[in-house]
Amino acid sequence: MFDPGWNPLHGAPSYPAERYAALADRIGGVLQSRNDILLVQAEAVVALEAVAASLARPGLSVVNIVTSPYGGWFGQWLRRGGATLHDIIAEPGLPIDIEVIAKALDLAPHIDVLAMVHAESASGILNPLPEILALARGRGIVTIVDAVASIGGHRLEIDSLGIDVAVIGPQKALGGPAGVSALSVSRRAWDLILRKGGPRDSILSLADLKSWVDDRRQGLPGTPAPLEFFALEAALDRIEAERLENVIARHVLAGSATRAGLAALGVATWVPAAKASNLVTAVRVPEELGPAALIATARRLGVELAAGVGAAAHLVRLNHTGPRASFQTVLSNVVAYGAALRQAGHAADIAAASEAIAVAYGR
Ligand SMILES: *Cc1c(COP(=O)(O)O)cnc(C)c1O
Repeated sequence: MFDPGWNPLHGAPSYPAERYAALADRIGGVLQSRNDILLVQAEAVVALEAVAASLARPGLSVVNIVTSPYGGWFGQWLRRGGATLHDIIAEPGLPIDIEVIAKALDLAPHIDVLAMVHAESASGILNPLPEILALARGRGIVTIVDAVASIGGHRLEIDSLGIDVAVIGPQKALGGPAGVSALSVSRRAWDLILRKGGPRDSILSLADLKSWVDDRRQGLPGTPAPLEFFALEAALDRIEAERLENVIARHVLAGSATRAGLAALGVATWVPAAKASNLVTAVRVPEELGPAALIATARRLGVELAAGVGAAAHLVRLNHTGPRASFQTVLSNVVAYGAALRQAGHAADIAAASEAIAVAYGR
């Protein structure tokens, strides 16, 4: 008889239908939200497209804040569904300015929805979320927040901030699988989503997922991928064991230690601390060196640095998200960046940088 040999991935059992509700409740705990939590059987970009597709109608008026390619795509999906878009585009690679949003909302005739990204992994910036939400709340605007990168890396209390829809993925700061995602939906957001004319019988239909919420939250539609849900459960186990506030504190420390290390190295970060995310730190690269050569030098040391994305493509990112929010990774990121500068003939004080990082972690 043919024997394929033992492999832990053969014959994975299906994920028990009665455990989806508990998973959703635990995600509600991470988000600090009593809103409905929906599970999407695909990576977070699909959940974001589902939000846009489910909201978009001719006549819907949206202020869409664009600080990376993600915001650009979100606007495109809304436009495809007939919505009227007011795109507010930040300076390349920088966070949006609160005054720009205040002015845009004052000038706009009537706005139903405001959409934005909280923290960007593409450029390492942090948008002024609580301030923007306060402006929106004062005007009765429904708010959509892409918190895929920020969840677990920054404080994000959905209900006390008054966020109507928050989209998250487990694969960034929570250190979980990339094949599932989740979102919270408020009563006010459901009122917009469930109006006539939205998609049904579609992977992009949030109204379909509302039926799951209303029907005792048992088995999800179709044949869910069991390994993804077991992995999500394991990620939540780990987050709850470490405690969310400690996970966030670990990211805060990774960000501040990285900036301290770079300052001691003699390198300016792309944005000041107040505008920086705790997820990745972006730095400029000497023009004649360029991101590709710098990244290649780091790779020879076994260290993975990355170029920025979109408008931040001229920057190099030091990634300290999820399991990488650790002393070892922060230290090796900064040392490798310094070593690449030195090899290209630039000054970089690697000893001082290492000392600064050790001091930051020793406190
Ligand atoms: C990573 C990320 C996403 C999701 O992208 P994936 O392709 O699912 O990794 C969405 N928005 C933001 C801001 C992100 O950083």
